[in-house]
Amino acid sequence: MEYFINISYIVASVLFIFGIKMLGSADTARRGNQISSIGMLLAVIVTLLNRDINAGEPLSFTWIIIGLLVGAAIGVVAAKRIQMTGMPELVALFNGFGGLASLLVGWAEFAKAGNFDKAEYPLFTACAVVFAILVGGITFTGSMIAYLKLSGKMGGSATVFPGQKAINTLVFIALLVFGGIFVATGAAWALYAVIGLSLLLGVLGVIPIGGGDMPVVISFLNSFSGIAASAAGFVILNNVLIVAGCLVGASGIILTVIMCKAMNRTLGNVLFGGFGASSGTTQEVEGEMKPISPEDAFYVLEAAESVIFVPGYGMAVAQAQHAVKELGEILENNGAEVRFAIHPVAGRMPGHMNVLLAEADVPYEQLCEMDDVNAIMETVDVAIVIGANDVVNPAAGEDESSPIYGMPIINVHQARTVFALKRGQGAGFSGLINTLFFRDNTRMIYGDAKETMTNLVGQFKD
Ligand code: NDP
Repeated sequence: MEYFINISYIVASVLFIFGIKMLGSADTARRGNQISSIGMLLAVIVTLLNRDINAGEPLSFTWIIIGLLVGAAIGVVAAKRIQMTGMPELVALFNGFGGLASLLVGWAEFAKAGNFDKAEYPLFTACAVVFAILVGGITFTGSMIAYLKLSGKMGGSATVFPGQKAINTLVFIALLVFGGIFVATGAAWALYAVIGLSLLLGVLGVIPIGGGDMPVVISFLNSFSGIAASAAGFVILNNVLIVAGCLVGASGIILTVIMCKAMNRTLGNVLFGGFGASSGTTQEVEGEMKPISPEDAFYVLEAAESVIFVPGYGMAVAQAQHAVKELGEILENNGAEVRFAIHPVAGRMPGHMNVLLAEADVPYEQLCEMDDVNAIMETVDVAIVIGANDVVNPAAGEDESSPIYGMPIINVHQARTVFALKRGQGAGFSGLINTLFFRDNTRMIYGDAKETMTNLVGQFKD
């Protein structure tokens, strides 16, 4: 039986790895998700068949089935109801519950020992219990704060106060001390202190992070939830949990590093920099926003030989991707060279714009990386910014006092003409003023992005 279980766990792990690999491309992502799900189903079934997890007795399935039904019902309803734009919040919630599950596994292992005053474990298990609880607790409350910030239920900016870093450091040191006491003595009070302090550190660690840094935090907490799961795997000596946790931990940290690079920040700066606490630029904004009607914009577009679309969060809100694709086709048929420039953190989750444009069947060869498109920006006749803001803010390259100074952006301000599609004077996610909108070569087309796009398409058809 043990042989069968371990072989099945290896098969499940291989399915996870192939599934994750297939998530790397929009064409294979759906299949990758299904393959990983089959791996997970296999792992769950094999685990339930394992009598060792109930001291050699067959499991009683009553509570397991109740848990499955309740969990599946919540998962199905949440996944069906969530809008594409709310996906990062959902990911934050999933991360949080993953962390909570690991915390509970660690705690349950302690409770299972049956002696609430003093548990006796091998040193390794005691360390794994403390680690699973510590990382799981931080992940749980940290993710809940990230969820509240992203969903707008709590202010999205950074909350900083004097002595914050010192307090966080003290809490972390206390965590290590109490964890050490538990490992050395098995004292219940020390473990409860670890639980309480890890939950507190999750809150304290995420409140000073705000603005455009939230995606990095979500990805980082995703990695944490994997590490916590892996630690829980060591607590109950379950190989597939260890492997799956490591995969999530490693992929989460790789994504975190990629996102930090995309924003030209270090992870330390993201976590401890207090981004978004200041109101932003000290640069004087000159000029005014100059509107243009879709009717007048049509004449400029009709004469354009090269056009670049730069989608952002507003395109996702408006669900304008199909209209954008249609306008792209019309411009191409009109003789223009058409490209779509994608910023790595445009939208509200990594790959957000790629997913939307793939859904609209935008040809893959028209999608361009930020660096490639910046190299030719000065030769572009029209850049159409569709509900993007922070990722095209020139302050990132020009204003040293700006919190986003140093973040690579798509340099649309270098194009001959810029059309910025947005509903009004609203700021981007970071809350900063965007000097692009005040430039001489920028014209604002106000309104919902989908309506504006449909209007422009209509102009060409008339
Ligand atoms: P921004 O959030 O900076 O700006 C979006 C703009 O869209 C707003 O200025 C808004 O202006 C406009 N908008 C909203 N709704 C509509 C609509 N229906 N039609 C037209 N325009 C609309 O978006 P960006 O994509 O430029 O930047 C992403 C930001 O989000 C970055 O700061 C990034 O760090 C952060 N972030 C990224 C994540 C990721 O992983 N990609 C995750 C979480 C945050 P108005 O209100 O005037 O219409």
